[in-house]
Amino acid sequence: MSVTTDTNAVQAAPLARPNSLAGGVYDAIFGQLMSLKIAPGARITVDSLVRELNVSQTPIREALGRLEGEGLVLRQHLVGYRAAPQITRDGFDELYELRLLLEPDAAAKTAMAMSDARYAALEGLAGVMAGNAGNDEKLRYSEFARQDAEFHDRILEFAGNSLVRDTLRTQHSHFHIFRLMFHWRVTAEALDEHEALLNAFRAGSPDAARAAMQDHIRNSRTRLLPAFA
Ligand SMILES: [Zn+2]
Repeated sequence: MSVTTDTNAVQAAPLARPNSLAGGVYDAIFGQLMSLKIAPGARITVDSLVRELNVSQTPIREALGRLEGEGLVLRQHLVGYRAAPQITRDGFDELYELRLLLEPDAAAKTAMAMSDARYAALEGLAGVMAGNAGNDEKLRYSEFARQDAEFHDRILEFAGNSLVRDTLRTQHSHFHIFRLMFHWRVTAEALDEHEALLNAFRAGSPDAARAAMQDHIRNSRTRLLPAFA
């Protein structure tokens, strides 16, 4: 690793998982994208990230490649990297329509296919993420976005229709949705709704699970709609 001697360099933000350099660099850039420190559509230059994070180009290029696969970063030939543009209002409406068509039924199927192991997996993703991110609000927010994406993805997995799961997965919907607004309400209220989903799963009730998922998606839409005002 190169040693910087530039005393004017901005103090690097502490990396989330210093024991894994590549993972830590990825987490740092992911956090900047999710908290809008890197604005949608903004150019991302490898050199400035090298200076800011005080690491070589290799882990940064690796992280940007992974983020490209997740739809958060675009790479243009000879131009470089750019943060994905913000989702449009039409795209937002279409996404929520799709989610409402697919996710409530998937939640009902998952409730009927519950097991102790599956319940434990979902409970682990439903909202306990605040613990490992400490007091860093941006980190907490980006951690929540990732866990929310995983929570919903596991529900689709347990529902057993891989086509439905892949359809929603390729939208990277949670990453786009969470970039609309950086706000504690988005997480605090969603936690209560996840709790309602867990209760329905624990009870093995398909009707309650379908209703809870419908409420969650509709409420999420209402929470984020002001971003387009
Ligand atoms: Zn959720």
